[in-house]
Amino acid sequence: MRQDSAIGIDIGGTHLRAARVAPDGAIEARARASSDRDPAVVVERIAHLIEAVDQPGVVRIGIGVPGRVDFASGRVLSGGYVDLSGTDLRGLLEARFGRPVVVDNDCSMALVAESAVGAARGRHSAVMLTIGTGIGGAVMDEGRIVRGRGAAGQLGHVGVDPAGRPCLCGRRGCVETVSSGTALGVHIREAGLPPETTAAELLGRRADGDAKARAVLMSWAGPLRLAIDSLVAVHDPEVVVLGGGLGAAAAAALDGIEVPASWYHSPVVPAQLGDDAGVIGAALLLPPGTRNGGKKRVVLVNGVPASGKSTVAQAISQAAGWPLLSLDTVKTPFLDEIEGVDRPFNRRLGRASLRALFELVREAPAGTGVVIDAWFGFQPHAFTAELLALSGADEFAEVWCTAPPEVIGERYLARVGSRSAAHPGAEYVPELVALARRAEPLRFGPVVEVDTRAPADPDALWREVADRWTAPVRHHQHQGEEASSP
Ligand SMILES: [Zn+2]
Repeated sequence: MRQDSAIGIDIGGTHLRAARVAPDGAIEARARASSDRDPAVVVERIAHLIEAVDQPGVVRIGIGVPGRVDFASGRVLSGGYVDLSGTDLRGLLEARFGRPVVVDNDCSMALVAESAVGAARGRHSAVMLTIGTGIGGAVMDEGRIVRGRGAAGQLGHVGVDPAGRPCLCGRRGCVETVSSGTALGVHIREAGLPPETTAAELLGRRADGDAKARAVLMSWAGPLRLAIDSLVAVHDPEVVVLGGGLGAAAAAALDGIEVPASWYHSPVVPAQLGDDAGVIGAALLLPPGTRNGGKKRVVLVNGVPASGKSTVAQAISQAAGWPLLSLDTVKTPFLDEIEGVDRPFNRRLGRASLRALFELVREAPAGTGVVIDAWFGFQPHAFTAELLALSGADEFAEVWCTAPPEVIGERYLARVGSRSAAHPGAEYVPELVALARRAEPLRFGPVVEVDTRAPADPDALWREVADRWTAPVRHHQHQGEEASSP
C-alpha cells in the first residue's frame, strides 16, 4: 500500500467523481455518483465516495468545485447548478476524515492535471478554458495557478462584445454568452438548424463547404478566438488548453478560422485527460501556502578552501531567494572565542558546525529551500550521507566549485593576513594545492561544475541547479580517505 496517494473529487452538474491518485497522476481507484442540486445531499454523497476509495495511506483530499473559490480559505464564493457557497465543505470533510482538504475551482484542478500529465505537461505557463454548459478558466504562471485576490481565472467572463447578451455575472457580452455549449445551441437554433445538430456534424459540414455550418461555427468560435487573443496578450502562455465536453470541438472550430498576423499568438491545443482531469488535479493540487511543491531542498555548494564557493553560494542564494547557511558563519564565532585551537580541534568544530546546519534544515518546515556553503571533503563521505538523511531533505543538488590548483593556492595566500589566527597561514598553501589536485565532488547525484575564475551569472546558475534535483541517496559508496582541511 502506498503512503502518499491523495483522493480527488470532481463535482459536476451530472456526476460526482472520485479517484485515488498516485503522486505521478496515475489513478488507483475510482467511484462515481449522480449529482444533485441540494448541497447537503452533495456533501453526503462526496463523503461516501471518499470512503469508497479511501485507504490508510491517503494523505490528502482535494475537491474541485464549479464556481468561484477563495483558495486560501477554501471558501466557495458562488456556484452554478450545484451551489456550495453556504456550506463549510472543507471544515465538514476535514472533521470527518481527519486529513487536510483542499478546495478549488474545478477548472484550476483540470489545469493542474493537464500541466502534470496532460496537454500542458512540462510547461511553466498555460491558459485553460473549459467549454461546457458555461466557460470555466484557469491561468498558470511559473508553474503555479494565478490567484489574484483569491478567485482569479474566471475566463468565461472575458468581454468580447460591449453590446452583447446579458451574462449571469451581471455584465454583457462575456465570451461565455456566445462560445459556451449552451450558446452553441442558441446559434444552431437561430440558424434554423435542427436543435439536435452536434458540433461534430457542423465541423464535418464545414469541411464539405457548407456555408451555414461555417457561419454557425464562426459565431460560436469567433468570439472565443477574440478572448484567447486577449488572454495571450495578457499572459503570453506557452500553450492554451481547451477542455470540457466541447474543448476538442472548439479547438477544431478555431482551426477553420483565419487568424490575422498578430503579436499575440500561442498554440491552442485540446485537453488530453477528458473527465479524469478534475479528479487527478484535485488529488495533485497542494494546499495553500505550500512552497516549492512542498519539498525541502538543499543546494550543497562544495569545493576546497579558496575554491571560490562562497561567491557562488551567495549568487545562488540571491537568485533563489533562499537563505545561505555557511559553515564558516557557524564556526567563526567559536574560533573567535576559543583560544589555542589546533587543527584536530578545528576539524571537530567543522563537523559540529555542519551538523548544526543540517539540524536547522531538519527543523525547517516543508517547502524550505536552503543553500549550504561548505567544504564537505574534510570528513568521510559517510558523514555527509548521514547529514543529508538527518536533514529530512526531499531533494538536493551539488554545485562543485573549481579553479586550477595554483590559482586556488594564490587566492589562499592573498587572504592569509585577513583571516583569524585559527586558520593556518602560508605554510598550508602547498598542502592545499595538493588537495585541490585530487579533490572530488561528493557525487551523490548530478553535479553542476563551476569554474570560479569567471564571474558567476546568478540566474543562469540557479536555473541550471534547479533542473537537477535528486532525491538524497541513503546508501552510497565509501570514497575512502579523509581529505585535508585548514
Ligand atoms: Zn459574465
